Amino acid sequence: GELHELDARVSVCRACPRLVEWREDVAVSKRKSFADQPYWGRPIPGWGADEPRILIAGLAPAANGGNRTGRVFTGDRSGDWLFASLYRVGLANQPTSEHAGDGLRLIGTRMIAAVRCAPPANKPTPAERDTCAPWYNRELELVLPTTKAIVCLGKFGFDALLTALAALGTTVPKPRPKFGHAAEYLIKTPHGDLTVLASFHPSQQNTFTGKLTEPMLDQVLTRAKTLAGL
Ligand code: SF4
Repeated sequence: GELHELDARVSVCRACPRLVEWREDVAVSKRKSFADQPYWGRPIPGWGADEPRILIAGLAPAANGGNRTGRVFTGDRSGDWLFASLYRVGLANQPTSEHAGDGLRLIGTRMIAAVRCAPPANKPTPAERDTCAPWYNRELELVLPTTKAIVCLGKFGFDALLTALAALGTTVPKPRPKFGHAAEYLIKTPHGDLTVLASFHPSQQNTFTGKLTEPMLDQVLTRAKTLAGL
């Protein structure tokens, strides 16, 4: 369907020169521990259910994670942490992610990133975010009719999602909702209400310091599951 066509079109996008150079450089030079593996090195489409009830929304793929595996939020420590939690709460069929042929499946859930190419230092510029927004907005538009809960990972991902939802004509509360772990906001869309949930990002910076613990992430994902009726 249209979602797959969109995936195919985004996967050849070269609109951001800095990100194109970075994603391809990393794919050629490779991290030592992955030296024997192929790298995707291109934009990362959304991944998971085609008619999701839950979306997991982040900012951008990681250079040696999604940029290597071709699946967003997999192949690095943040992804490991996230998938362990998804598995514990029953939203993934296995707790680990190795590579694109590992049989991993998400249950009623789709993962998407606001910016499709891995940025240096995990930070896209505002201009890069805006350049990628049409891809993000279109994908959101296609999956919104079935979506009941959106879990945003990190403040940048949360902000990008609210911007996209506003651009799609949904009613985002004013003043704009504040980011905080386990914060939740009801958003009115033409297809009905959905809930946006915020979570601290499962980056090593947060998980090593205990700012984000396993029960904290499980709690937000369990809440999403309940809201989605899964
Ligand atoms: Fe294209 Fe988005 Fe990648 Fe920029 S970040 S090159 S707009 S897919």
